Amino acid sequence: MASPVSRVAVVGSGISGAVCASLLARNGVSVTLFESARGPGGRMSYRKEITEDGKELVFDHGAPLFTVSNPDVLGIVREWEARGLVAEWKENFASFDCISRKFIDFEKEGLSEKYVGVPVMNSICRALCHEPGVESKFGVGVGSLEWFDEKNLWSLTGLDGQNLGNFEGVVASDKNIFSKRFTDVTGRPPPLDLNLIPELAAKLQEVPVCSCFVLMLAFTKPLSSISVKGFSFKNSEILSWAFCDSSKPGHPATSERWVLHSTMEYARGVVAQIGLQKPSSSTLAKVAEELFEEFQRTGLTISQPFFKKAHRWGSAFPAASIAREEKCLWDRKKRVAICGDFCVSPTVEGAILSGMAASSKLTEFLSCL
Ligand SMILES: Cc1cc2nc3c(=O)[nH]c(=O)nc-3n(C[C@H](O)[C@H](O)[C@H](O)COP(=O)(O)OP(=O)(O)OC[C@H]3O[C@@H](n4cnc5c(N)ncnc54)[C@H](O)[C@@H]3O)c2cc1C
Repeated sequence: MASPVSRVAVVGSGISGAVCASLLARNGVSVTLFESARGPGGRMSYRKEITEDGKELVFDHGAPLFTVSNPDVLGIVREWEARGLVAEWKENFASFDCISRKFIDFEKEGLSEKYVGVPVMNSICRALCHEPGVESKFGVGVGSLEWFDEKNLWSLTGLDGQNLGNFEGVVASDKNIFSKRFTDVTGRPPPLDLNLIPELAAKLQEVPVCSCFVLMLAFTKPLSSISVKGFSFKNSEILSWAFCDSSKPGHPATSERWVLHSTMEYARGVVAQIGLQKPSSSTLAKVAEELFEEFQRTGLTISQPFFKKAHRWGSAFPAASIAREEKCLWDRKKRVAICGDFCVSPTVEGAILSGMAASSKLTEFLSCL
């Protein structure tokens, strides 16, 4: 157990930060978690949409599901399952070949157990961010992390200049916290100056990212020509996956809701035209049309949706893993852990493993004080 006065700041409430924060708190550390978005989850967030006639629609517009192969992660997932935060999505999955216009590979796609958050993907992060010992502050972006040698402490300042307090340790769970990309998008220096952690700086190379567009669709009637609830696309340059969101366990089934994912190549083409800034509503409307037309080109009977909206994930998937062995980066002198899927693999499981590793490093260190 760490000393109860140990204070650690966790930046980011995606699954890596949320897992790390909850494990630290269980080990007696006092954790303050800062999240720039309004709610928890990061790329496991959900989207609530209200239609013109006042209907509420909910979509998992980030990660639609996750799979697990590591026994330690499976242990945690079983615990979440017992708490009702996670359920297995036991539907049929397949691939759709756009050339033969047939569903194939039922067995292959159905091999691994698929897990979803209940009632939405971010339920897991939400619960972890509210565990005893974790104080979560949403809508608070961390703008800078300063190290004070004389106090042996980190001092955090918000993007709005607000003093966020002093901490003995810091967990940074998003690559933007140290990346040049932060400057490209915001025009400001990244919150964490790598000169403060020279030993880690060499390992913290720029992580290339792949973007993805998703299309959220709602239909009044089930798409009964589709016999599976999730499928990958073969031989499509535009679409990579389709998921029937309303068929997930615990999800409201008031309408038939599907989420389609673009291919990375398609997204790269759009981003090359519009840059890194937030896409305009006309760009998103054009993307929505293109993704939907490709869905219709399958030849499956797809009725007109009563709701159709695209969303862009600028940094959907890191294209490199910078700490595959150690699973997080750790500076013992300054007590900084850097974690996230970009350390291990571009998946929920990779992010969980990284958050677990970051919490171990800090707990081990603080318990020796
Ligand atoms: C469309 C899509 C489909 C996917 N499909 C799958 C799938 O099928 N299976 C699978 O396993 N994975 C999938 N993934 C990947 C999975 O979502 C991620 O690997 C995982 O959620 C990453 O978690 P993380 O904690 O590393 O990062 P994130 O979830 O990105 O969390 C980082 C958090 O830090 C916050 N933050 C950043 N900077 C600051 C700051 N300065 N101050 C405060 N907060 C800050 C961000 O707002 C964010 O909430 C998908 C992702 C997307 C986008």
